[in-house]
Amino acid sequence: MRRGLAAGNWKMNGTGGDLGEIALLAAAHPAPASEVLICPPATLIARMADAARGTPIAVGGQDCHPAEKGAHTGDLSAAMLAEAGASHVILGHSERRADHGETDDLVRAKAEAARAAGLTAIVCVGETLAEREAGRTLEIVEGQLAGSVPDGAAGDTLVVAYEPVWAIGTGLTPTTEQIAEVHAALRAALTARFGAEIAGAIRLLYGGSVKAANATEIFAVADVDGALVGGASLKAADFGPIVAALDARLG
Ligand code: PEP
Repeated sequence: MRRGLAAGNWKMNGTGGDLGEIALLAAAHPAPASEVLICPPATLIARMADAARGTPIAVGGQDCHPAEKGAHTGDLSAAMLAEAGASHVILGHSERRADHGETDDLVRAKAEAARAAGLTAIVCVGETLAEREAGRTLEIVEGQLAGSVPDGAAGDTLVVAYEPVWAIGTGLTPTTEQIAEVHAALRAALTARFGAEIAGAIRLLYGGSVKAANATEIFAVADVDGALVGGASLKAADFGPIVAALDARLG
């Protein structure tokens, strides 16, 4: 049984005054069966890691550079994130693919750098609305998966997040049948590439307008091992019930 993962993506939100959410979340969920992760802006990683020490909450980054070090103004290496206290890093989020032109090759290189630094990569894939309406959803996500996931991936170094671009921050969500179809296809593609044992250990998250009101229904879908949550991860009062829903389903 794969352990559930409730991952929060704060995106470009949060300053020091928001770190109190960690204590609130830990107080409400002192011993969750699921893994709980918050990925704040890079400026908060070290302070959040301090705030989370002694709690079950892990801290992650939202991106890293593929190189170990060098002349890359404004970028951060995976080792820097790890040193600051991160255990995970989100890679290939659709906002980075769109805003920064990130390609599958680049995401794959970043995932390799993350693994070398001891971080678990959360690699995001997902179709646009135009791609879904053109019937290309599986082709798109399978292509992104093949291109973005490095060889030698395993359950402790890789998590895959299915995030339909049209569902992120919009309040729209796919039907449970649509989520099930994509997650089954992702699991099958991982199985074909890595074998059943390794693929069976890689967690598949759903992301896109997850909130307390729809979490239970989404977590009941086969092959959904947790969620990557944006807006509803900013406040412990919103994220806590999502953790509880995942615990109730998976643990
Ligand atoms: C995300 O950005 O990864 C995300 C899923 O955002 P939201 O939950 O706000 O749709």
